[in-house]
Amino acid sequence: MASTEIVWFRRDLRVRDHPALHGAVIDADRVVPLFVVDPAITGGAAASGPRAHFLAACLRELDAALRERGGRLVVRHGDPADVLVALAEETGATAVRWTSDASPFGRRRDQRVTTALEDAGVRAVPSPGQYVADPSEPRTGGGKPYTVFSPFSRAWEHLDRRRVLDAPSAVSVPQVAGEGLPAPDLLGADGRPDVPEPFAEPGEEAGLRAARSWLDGPIQDYDDLHDVLAGKHGSSRAAGGTSGLSPHLRWGTISPRWLEARARKLSGAGPAAFVRQLAWRDFYAHVYLFHPEDRRRAHQPRFRELTWERDDEALEAWKAGRTGYPLVDAGMRQLAATGWMHNRARLVVGSFLTKDLHVDWTAGERHFSALLQDGEPTQNDGNWQWVTSIGVDPKPYFQRMFNPTRQLVRFDPQGRYVRRWVPELAHVPDERIAEPWKMDRDEQRAAACVIGQDYPAPIVEHAAERERAAARYRSAAEA
Ligand code: FAD
Repeated sequence: MASTEIVWFRRDLRVRDHPALHGAVIDADRVVPLFVVDPAITGGAAASGPRAHFLAACLRELDAALRERGGRLVVRHGDPADVLVALAEETGATAVRWTSDASPFGRRRDQRVTTALEDAGVRAVPSPGQYVADPSEPRTGGGKPYTVFSPFSRAWEHLDRRRVLDAPSAVSVPQVAGEGLPAPDLLGADGRPDVPEPFAEPGEEAGLRAARSWLDGPIQDYDDLHDVLAGKHGSSRAAGGTSGLSPHLRWGTISPRWLEARARKLSGAGPAAFVRQLAWRDFYAHVYLFHPEDRRRAHQPRFRELTWERDDEALEAWKAGRTGYPLVDAGMRQLAATGWMHNRARLVVGSFLTKDLHVDWTAGERHFSALLQDGEPTQNDGNWQWVTSIGVDPKPYFQRMFNPTRQLVRFDPQGRYVRRWVPELAHVPDERIAEPWKMDRDEQRAAACVIGQDYPAPIVEHAAERERAAARYRSAAEA
């Protein structure tokens, strides 16, 4: 009798370098490539318009890639444990393979699914593919997981790497019923629109094109330009000096291991710095594997009682990009328009929310999660905790209080990024772009930017708020 295995796709929406798919095609005569529309995700707090639209398009493309190989994507709705047990029984599948995930929700779900499958006599086979290396492996000399990035990255450098795999040439799918490919509304977009100018084009082919064009040139400047918000002068790259590959890594439309292998073939400081960023992604996966309880709870116990202020008006101004600080506003408007934000801007807006407005970081984390195409619990949570100075990889809180004016002068000196996203500032002279409120009335009229009318006055004064934030952190640390 022909043997059958199920490959359960989740956030690994590709056919190339896919260990679970590769393993099933080798092991079994027939393979059921499956996507489960899980109401716990699509109806839960993690639902997002931009991600639902991205996901729907990736599923269409994955289905097309499987059809080119003689197969197709089977879609079912329901609790994955019930769906998988029923489908295994229906098709006579002896194993279910999937790509392991590090998120606390994903791991609880996978544990439940494993138990249900084992009870039904079906093998559960978690496989690598979501990260460059195995994030569960690194240990300190004392045998503990890491909470500091640099030693983690040194250990990570020496971990074994798996072989990069080709896409299977054929996928033979048995006769099995499925629902149609889900529209964005069914994937959580219901009532949550896409962003007007989505940042990344979805799908494996688009991911490969973006990765190849990055590896073919701009990566060489990464070490110099990764913090420059508008990137190389004269370049029209939407991501500035960074790769812009995060949505593809988030959805697995490109393989992180493949990307690392390709970057390592290149010499120079740019590719080396880029590989180091991929290690940050594995680092946060490592952290949440060992500290799932950190999700929305400060990793550092001394900051669990940190006080926050409830200021809905300030929170709304931050979300709308109307704080009066050009770099903060540009970042927030880039997010609202595209579903992506440059990392330097993420740091500045994160610091501004938590240390200038004193608003609880989880409000920022939720807002990012609603809009980011690359929004992902471990990366989003880990980075929010980092910038709030309450997480792993600790540094004294005052070292991560970003001055939004100085950051603009340093990383967007001609205001190219800021002018792109805050058009009210288009004609403000370079020397005033970081502090437009310092223009006198004549300058404001000449720049067609009257403060308080065309563009807001700063909603808070950074220097004063910095002091207040320092006092809050000091008192929490000393309590
Ligand atoms: P590049 O600079 O080209 O880096 C290449 C890849 O390395 C990225 O695609 C990403 O996968 C990884 N990487 C780079 N920086 C980081 C980092 N600090 N932490 C972890 N991985 C990193 N990244 C997400 O993928 N999802 C999120 O939800 C997310 N939320 C964030 C929230 C805040 C407050 C901050 C400060 C950062 C957040 N990041 C998140 C990390 C980082 O901002 C993005 O990964 C990066 O901006 C993506 O752009 P890129 O692909 O051009 O990055």
